[in-house]
Amino acid sequence: MTQSDHFRNMVDRTVNFVNDSFLFSTTMLEFADKILTAYDPDYKSFGVEHVTTCGRHLYYLNQGDTYAYTVLKESGCKLTAGSWGDWVEQVELEYALEHNEIRCGNCGEWTPNDQDDWHDVVCISCHRNVDGS
Ligand SMILES: [Zn+2]
Repeated sequence: MTQSDHFRNMVDRTVNFVNDSFLFSTTMLEFADKILTAYDPDYKSFGVEHVTTCGRHLYYLNQGDTYAYTVLKESGCKLTAGSWGDWVEQVELEYALEHNEIRCGNCGEWTPNDQDDWHDVVCISCHRNVDGS
């Protein structure tokens, strides 16, 4: 039995609509928060928080610790599990490798990683060595 193109088109549109409806809101995280609250009486939640780095956005269930194992949702993506601290480190590593830049240890700005030894890199924003020397 083959399904009509009309039906297949309707299925595709339904999938896209439902994905878009959830992926661009924090509804999924709030739902996960309710499940965890009901499941574990020791679960402590401080609600949905948000962090941005390198132009990417992450929503997560805040449990009061940067590296707590929790529920994450990057904008436009499905839920994942992990810590928001690990997510930030991974995103910044990907950014550094993709753009050949390094984050300055003094001012926190990104600067070109143009030396063989990163300790010798001078920040273009604060004009100090990125290693703090
Ligand atoms: Zn700097």
